[in-house]
Amino acid sequence: MKLSLVIPVLNEAEALPLLFQAVFPVIDSLDCDCELLFVNDGSTDDSLDILARAAEADPRIKVLSFSRNFGHQAAITAGIDFSTGDAVVVMDADLQDPPRLIPEMVRLYREGYDVVSPQRIARPGDKWLKRQAITLFYLLMRKLVDKRIPPEVGDFRLLSRNAANAIRRFREQHRYMRGMIAWLGLREVMLPFERQARAGGETKYPFSKLLRLSWTAICSFSALPLRLTMWLGLATSSFGVGYLCWAIYMDLVRNRAIWGWTSVVSLQCLFFGVTLVCVSLIGDYIARIYEEAKQRPLYVVNQAVNIDEAPQDTGRAIFLAPRRAENTIHANRI
Ligand code: UDP
Ligand code: MG
Repeated sequence: MKLSLVIPVLNEAEALPLLFQAVFPVIDSLDCDCELLFVNDGSTDDSLDILARAAEADPRIKVLSFSRNFGHQAAITAGIDFSTGDAVVVMDADLQDPPRLIPEMVRLYREGYDVVSPQRIARPGDKWLKRQAITLFYLLMRKLVDKRIPPEVGDFRLLSRNAANAIRRFREQHRYMRGMIAWLGLREVMLPFERQARAGGETKYPFSKLLRLSWTAICSFSALPLRLTMWLGLATSSFGVGYLCWAIYMDLVRNRAIWGWTSVVSLQCLFFGVTLVCVSLIGDYIARIYEEAKQRPLYVVNQAVNIDEAPQDTGRAIFLAPRRAENTIHANRI
């Protein structure tokens, strides 16, 4: 059996040496071949140099480097595209996904599971607000969007070759890997663990980026926001009709016309506000359709180390790296 570790990297110069220290004893203890596929997602620090040096010393380390930052989800996608193992483990470079779980994940894979999902039972490394927001997000996702999405499971996953090949067929631009894996409906098992704080460096997921990913998750897997606009429209219209009835009643029965610029203006603001929110929600979906319709590549690989060849059957990606094995960085730009 061969195991591929896919590790996306954005400015992880501090964490990488610690990762090497932690991960090698674990993979050396496994009775299978291993490859470590690092995807450098446009790092601006020394990450790429560190990875290239490590790859020169150890052919099990393979490095793909993007021409710029294409995002975490694109980096995972590229790693899975290039992986050659019978099973693929996707993990962070910052040791928040502990390598010590890998032997247990491999054991469960050998028992026949297609997806092994470490589930966070605690996340002391994250701030309180982030933890609460994430709990709320999973609650909403499971209740309103897709109940198959397991709570507190991140991108730290083991995928069988079948699952990885299935994921490679998803070439959508707005990607939410956790949703895609849940959508496949393959045989999955949870593995509880306590998520630690980062080994070094800063999180690359500030709150704003997390919100954007959550929004992508919701929009990619449901038309719920569009349906909500209908309910919002119905609610505000009912309120408008109620207000009108009250105004007529006051005028005809109580003989007291409601006068007021204030009420007219505030109602107008309310209705225009609601209308604009609804239109912009529809606009967001249209923008996403537009971006999908362009069929742009998901990422551009312009450097690679220890990669024998680019995968043959992968659409929507650009590989500018030469297709031969050499322990040097190939800077083969357009
Ligand atoms: N990452 C990446 N591209 C990005 C953001 C993050 O490749 O645009 C990598 C990052 O280096 C790390 C992993 O993806 O290895 C997860 O990011 P991070 O640990 O910052 O997220 P968090 O664990 O804080 O949610
Ligand atoms: Mg992390």
